[in-house]
Amino acid sequence: MIDGKKCIGILTSGGDAPGMNDAIRAVVRTALHNDMIPMGIIKGYNGLLEKNYKIMDSASVSNILKKGGTILFTARCKEFYEAKYREIAYQNALEAGMDGLVVIGGDGSYNGARYLSELGLPCIGIPGTIDNDIACTEYTIGFDTAMNTIVEAVDRLNDTSQSHLRCTVVEVMGRHAGHMALNTGVACGAVAIVTEEAPLDINQICERIFHAMERGKHHYIIMVSEGVGETERMARDIQSLTGIDTRASILGHVQRGGSPTLRDRVVASEMGNYAVHLLAQGIGNRVVAMKDNKIVDYDIQEALQMKKGLDMNLYRVMEEII
Ligand code: ADP
Repeated sequence: MIDGKKCIGILTSGGDAPGMNDAIRAVVRTALHNDMIPMGIIKGYNGLLEKNYKIMDSASVSNILKKGGTILFTARCKEFYEAKYREIAYQNALEAGMDGLVVIGGDGSYNGARYLSELGLPCIGIPGTIDNDIACTEYTIGFDTAMNTIVEAVDRLNDTSQSHLRCTVVEVMGRHAGHMALNTGVACGAVAIVTEEAPLDINQICERIFHAMERGKHHYIIMVSEGVGETERMARDIQSLTGIDTRASILGHVQRGGSPTLRDRVVASEMGNYAVHLLAQGIGNRVVAMKDNKIVDYDIQEALQMKKGLDMNLYRVMEEII
């Protein structure tokens, strides 16, 4: 408590994602609207250890809706894997007057939130990652923006690929999850989508190229999820097996940046608002998630044990419309 008012901490942790700022803004503005004091913590859990935090006001989140990245900075914090540092972070949070904490990040960050909740600081996780690889939620903040960035880039690659009658093997992010590769592959008319969940060997990839060729196609996009790896080698093998000029294109960190799309702005705003309402009721150790397009919440431990697969129906659709 600060001056008799509840104080809500907010931090971003793990990889950054467009839309995190929109969630921060929603947390700050919702807290203020409900007569609570928002406190921004800098550089993820490191900020709690280094006592690097500041009280925020409405103006401190002005004009950030359209800004990519996170104004609070994000980081990994290896000390947090050790109980003694989590205890220090907890004590610092108490000393600063925090009554609750919102953590925007992925599964790893939720683990930290769970420990702090167990120590006595109610924490709420918000799913922020471009990869959409958090099992408990249909949607993670940043997913839509990153995929739109990929689609724009691949459309450009397609133009040049088309002019040179070429095959382009595009590697997209997603860590060990193929959601980005699958959705962008469908959206960009890829002739093959290769993910860890639904792998294809080199012969299967070439078959799909020949199949598309038989239908009159002269340029080909192969979408590969980063977890599959060996993108350069895949391009070399395709070229030697098909005789088609083939290039690898690894999109890299450009996928993380940019102004959030409408979907990310809206979902981030809803989730930030929801998280503060949970804390206002004294509820902690929960994660905010999307289920059937509605915002819901789960126990963190329960959320961490959930499993989420790829949308195999979308795979089937893609196979039928090559
Ligand atoms: P993400 O949140 O995107 O999954 P990480 O897995 O890198 O990213 O986790 C971000 C941070 O969360 C870590 O640097 C660490 O500070 C904290 N964290 C991750 N896993 C744990 C854990 N098992 N126990 C405590 N803290 C953790």
